[in-house]
Amino acid sequence: MHHPLTIIIVGGGTAGWMTAAALSQLIEKNICTITLVESAEIGTVGVGEATLPQMKDFNDFIGINEADMMQSTNATFKLGIQFVGWGKQSSSYIHPFGKFGESIAGVDFHQVWSRLNLVAKVKNIEAYSYAIQASYQNRFEFPVNDKNYINSTYSYAYHFDASLYAQYLRKFSEERDVRRVEGKIHSVKRSNATGLIESIELESGLSIKGDFFVDCSGFRSLLLREALGAEFEDWSHWLPCDRAAALPSKRIEKIPPYTRSTAKEAGWQWRIPLQHRTGNGYVFSSDFISEDKAVESLLNDVPDALAVPRLLKFKAGRYRQSWIKNCVAIGLSSGFLEPLESTSIYLIQVAIFNLLKCFPNKQVENELIAEYGRLMDLEYERIRDFLILHYHLNERDDNDLWRYCRSMKIPDSLKEKIAIYKSRGYIDQYRYGLFSLPSWIAVFNGQGLTQNLVDPFAFNISDDTAIERLNEIEKRISERVKSMPTHDEFLADYCPAKL
Ligand code: FAD
Repeated sequence: MHHPLTIIIVGGGTAGWMTAAALSQLIEKNICTITLVESAEIGTVGVGEATLPQMKDFNDFIGINEADMMQSTNATFKLGIQFVGWGKQSSSYIHPFGKFGESIAGVDFHQVWSRLNLVAKVKNIEAYSYAIQASYQNRFEFPVNDKNYINSTYSYAYHFDASLYAQYLRKFSEERDVRRVEGKIHSVKRSNATGLIESIELESGLSIKGDFFVDCSGFRSLLLREALGAEFEDWSHWLPCDRAAALPSKRIEKIPPYTRSTAKEAGWQWRIPLQHRTGNGYVFSSDFISEDKAVESLLNDVPDALAVPRLLKFKAGRYRQSWIKNCVAIGLSSGFLEPLESTSIYLIQVAIFNLLKCFPNKQVENELIAEYGRLMDLEYERIRDFLILHYHLNERDDNDLWRYCRSMKIPDSLKEKIAIYKSRGYIDQYRYGLFSLPSWIAVFNGQGLTQNLVDPFAFNISDDTAIERLNEIEKRISERVKSMPTHDEFLADYCPAKL
């Protein structure tokens, strides 16, 4: 008789419940059983409210109704992130979830735009991004599928209440037969012969056996680090922020459809607009500002706070291996990259998808583990480089943090990307991993890095034709954006919060 794989998930934060919800589809097919253990006493990290457009793929994959999920989590839409003060102190730009313009005669838009910049006065590249223009006007509607329309050139993500999202997924998972056990784990039992994890032992005396363990225990990394001794690769010399103070405030009257990240003296401050409140937090480096000063600065910037600031500590980096023997770590237990580009929940999602691609058997298969590791390394390293880029390209002079980041040695992979862009505006389009061409263009341009030369094919297009096309794209965007409902109107109609 076939015995399903017994999967034990340790932890009930966003990572634990996303994993349980995704894998719960396999219970009915008798492929696995799932038990999730969590401790209310320990609680969850309780932050993590801005997401990326891939989140919609995850929800669609597990079969969640979008409007229902948004309504239950007080969610809003997100078209990008505004970066204030990241280049020069006075600068501001949006990293949009969408394209800049359209390719012209087969040449990338940014190449034609850069070439025109050499000969004529053209508008900031933001004028040619639908997502950016909609953001500035606080408007939202769903993109269309027909690629002939300008309003097909963007996608969207969500801001949501992370604890409500975990609760939502808990209900979803329990309805699909995920078993939940409340209790505190005090030790992990491993086989002397194989080193595999055999069971987790709870303070209550309960012992839970399993074939495969998913460590979603948060920063503690109870199984991967504590039990299996995984080695941490420290990236804090590139990403020195190691603290955050989080503080909710009243809801914003006209809810913007984007996250805001404002660079400050020793880090940056997020603003995440939800339907019922606003999330704020100061991510800072304790090497460059004291905790007290950082909290004071946050309180000054957030006058309508609804609670007292909560301090969180972390370190940038990841474990060299996040799957060891019969245990994979997903979420904060596998590593942490600061929330500047809202990438953590994405990393959870991609870890789940990669786990499904390399789904384990009762026997440990090293080839599956190696493939999983290769896929996750790509994800982590690409995000890492993109985050470092924001710090490295700063032009601020108000604190040693910024001077340090400007002059620090950066990874070779990023050095090459910057050099290649600077030369002729070329940006590699890879298949796996986050951040495609528009994301890099947004940050390069927004933080003042210009290309020296352009794609030679851009010269096949006459100045007049190029100007005409740019004007036409801008007009199509502005006319269409004007006719969109406001973000508030759209939320009220589609997914009003159950307040
Ligand atoms: P946790 O939420 O910490 O959950 C750990 C679980 O393990 C809990 O249920 C706990 O009870 C359980 N547990 C631990 N030890 C034991 C034990 N001994 N016995 C039993 N149970 C145990 N991500 C984004 O995508 N967007 C953002 O905007 C964003 N902002 C962030 C801002 C900050 C300051 C930080 C620190 C993180 C942010 N993140 C963000 C990351 C995001 O919060 C996490 O990726 C996400 O919440 C997942 O956390 P987790 O489930 O891995 O861990």
